[in-house]
Amino acid sequence: MELLNNNIIFNTIDNGIMVLDDGLNIKAWNKWLEVKTGIKASEIVDHNICEKFPYIEQKKLIRKIKSVLITKNPSFFSVEPHEYLIKIKSNIIMGKVFKYMRQDITLVPYDSERKLVCLYIYDHTKLHESSEKLKKLNEELKELSSKDHLTQLYNRRYFTEAAITMQSLSIRNNHHVSIIILDVDNFKNINDTYGHSVGDNVIVSLSRILENNCRKSDIVARFGGEEFVILLYNTSLSFAQSIAENIRENVEDYFLEVNKEKLSFTLSLGVAQFDAKLDKDIESTINRADKALYAAKESGKNKVVTDNS
Ligand code: GH3
Ligand code: MG
Ligand code: MG
Repeated sequence: MELLNNNIIFNTIDNGIMVLDDGLNIKAWNKWLEVKTGIKASEIVDHNICEKFPYIEQKKLIRKIKSVLITKNPSFFSVEPHEYLIKIKSNIIMGKVFKYMRQDITLVPYDSERKLVCLYIYDHTKLHESSEKLKKLNEELKELSSKDHLTQLYNRRYFTEAAITMQSLSIRNNHHVSIIILDVDNFKNINDTYGHSVGDNVIVSLSRILENNCRKSDIVARFGGEEFVILLYNTSLSFAQSIAENIRENVEDYFLEVNKEKLSFTLSLGVAQFDAKLDKDIESTINRADKALYAAKESGKNKVVTDNS
């Protein structure tokens, strides 16, 4: 091993290389490892790697070395869950995500007669950080594409997808699914009288009232403008009707203060329950709830109309 320890390639390459025998004794330790760990080759050569680094899974490493020597093929060595073989402090300062260097480990047969393998350590911290950042970004993007910007409620696109899933779940479990659609009455007047930003405040306040009247498992979404839709899982038509009535009353009692003036508003609501005999899909239930909402508007507003068909 003397030859290797003084080899210029071995000592200038930008990754860690060590030679191990099948009893886990270190036979060579390159410059990269000396620099990164602060341990000189002279201090560690002929020592057992697991004595120096007790967190290494000894049995797993022995098994891997044996299999590499038998198959005479290179092989990856998985270092999950820590993602490192040897604990080395990460030296990336900016945007640091990982405390310790993330490492990919490869074992290569070196001398089958003397039962020696080469173990390569690659610093993949930057790569792992990039993929971690990408993962976070994707999650944020998913969140953005499913939420309405103004109210932070789900948007129509998400609602439509989720409603289909919930409806098939309800058929499997024999549970009721009900839909409430609601729309602010004379909202155009509010915008015209108080301005668009007060109109926005009404929409946001209403969103919070809706959330307060629903369970976490219900889906509350802004369908567009001042129109909202709620999917109530495991909820019968009559129960959905009473929830709609509560919402109507809560909104009627609520007011915003605008220039020391009280601004009240009302809602019209339509309710329907998914019925496999009537509806080929949940879209059709939403349409029936929408017709009920239209009927509420037509018959004087500030009321709940239930589709009983
Ligand atoms: P109805 O009782 O029949 O529902 O009457 P309405 O005035 O509420 O209904 P209409 O559909 O005529 O008016 C809705 C208005 O909502 C028109 C549009 O300018 C306004 N609008 C849509 N989206 C927003 C928004 O995000 N913010 C604000 N402030 N206004 C919005
Ligand atoms: Mg309206
Ligand atoms: Mg409307």
